[in-house]
Amino acid sequence: MARTDAIVLGAGIVGTSIALQLAKRGLSVALVDRKGVGLETSYGNSGVIEGSTVFPAAFPRDLRALLRVALKQASEANYHLSFLPQVAPWLLAFRHLSQPRQLAETARANRPLFARAVGEHETLMQESEATHLLRKTGWMKLYSRDDALDRLRAEFEVAKEFGLPLETLDAKGAQALEPNLRPAFKHAVFWPRAASISNPLALTRAYANRFAALGGVTVTGDARSLHRSGHGWRVETDEGALDSANVVVALGPWAPDVLEPLGLKLPMAVKRGYHRHFRAEGNASLARPVVDAENGFLMTPMEQGIRLTTGAEFAARDAAPTPVQFDRLMPRARELFPLGARADNDTWLGARPCFADSRPVIGAAPKLPGLWLGIGHAHWGLTLGPITGKLLGDMITGATPVVDPAPYRAERFL
Ligand SMILES: Cc1cc2nc3c(=O)[nH]c(=O)nc-3n(C[C@H](O)[C@H](O)[C@H](O)COP(=O)(O)OP(=O)(O)OC[C@H]3O[C@@H](n4cnc5c(N)ncnc54)[C@H](O)[C@@H]3O)c2cc1C
Repeated sequence: MARTDAIVLGAGIVGTSIALQLAKRGLSVALVDRKGVGLETSYGNSGVIEGSTVFPAAFPRDLRALLRVALKQASEANYHLSFLPQVAPWLLAFRHLSQPRQLAETARANRPLFARAVGEHETLMQESEATHLLRKTGWMKLYSRDDALDRLRAEFEVAKEFGLPLETLDAKGAQALEPNLRPAFKHAVFWPRAASISNPLALTRAYANRFAALGGVTVTGDARSLHRSGHGWRVETDEGALDSANVVVALGPWAPDVLEPLGLKLPMAVKRGYHRHFRAEGNASLARPVVDAENGFLMTPMEQGIRLTTGAEFAARDAAPTPVQFDRLMPRARELFPLGARADNDTWLGARPCFADSRPVIGAAPKLPGLWLGIGHAHWGLTLGPITGKLLGDMITGATPVVDPAPYRAERFL
């Protein structure tokens, strides 16, 4: 049996970043995962460090868009009919919070985290010798509707309030940045303050290596074995039992598996998402992630090829994959960019852990002393991993928090 200052459950980008931030403060830390470092949701994402995010993803307000989703014609979303009754309360809450005023409130609540996201990653990347994975080339969103820019006015106002630069472009202007894009769109918005990475798994592994260099220990174990022991907590691992006064739950979409048996039920849903890799035709390339905002998919250059990621699928976390969104979006993707053959045969499926208010939960677990939460990072777990770790590090060691943690408290649901 071993005793540590802190145990972190879950070695995705969020848990690994938390473990590293704690180790940097001199704490002895054990990072526990049942599978390995960075192999789940943090493996397959789009690699965007969204320093410029303003409004979160929202429930469609446009009846035509909603109808296309309902009729399973939309590429931006899919659902399993049998799952709808279960996710309906979450969807109703999400719909309510997708009104313009609420979106602006969410943007303001999350801004302190997003504003620090790129900088915190850069610091960890420098310490982890991982800066070669970083591209500070922003990201670009494409639109085809004539009124697309008018519909973005409210978001642009809030971006201005945050001092966030953006450029609105026509197809020619967008091609000046991405010459291989085909002009099958009318407008583009370039957000220069976003960054991206070329291999999310390599990044999480680099942070885990840095954690090990600082004396951190990564072990295999099942987080569901967590239980109270004396005044603290105990987890069973392949290396024996681990005891600690502080345990951080960073299990992404699996957090409920551990929290619910402890009596903490938080309204988390998952938005599943897929990726596939493609070659580009000829010498075509992309310099940054490009989003077809109206059709809800993203293309980004990764070490494995052009990674195409899908929008949301509402289905049970563990249900079998149904990657039908690719059938719907591929013609459009090929209209926009000269995608060639598949680069491999894999279709990856992940599950974004989401709260309806689009805010993560970061802080102490209510009524469970010594238990801490770093969960619910939705579309931004890669983006927010390092700043989440920094904030939790402050809270666990009793330092002044780097940002006000109040908006991210779990108590907002209780
Ligand atoms: C298609 C797609 C695209 C995305 N694009 C982006 C993007 O561009 N930018 C961005 O910021 N975010 C993006 N995201 C979101 C981001 O990937 C997630 O928010 C993030 O990976 C969540 O990280 P995590 O560490 O919380 O979870 P995970 O990476 O899932 O880590 C949880 C860990 O817990 C472990 N675990 C689970 N159960 C147990 C158990 N019982 N015992 C022990 N270990 C256990 C798992 O093995 C896993 O390693 C995207 C997501 C998807 C699906």
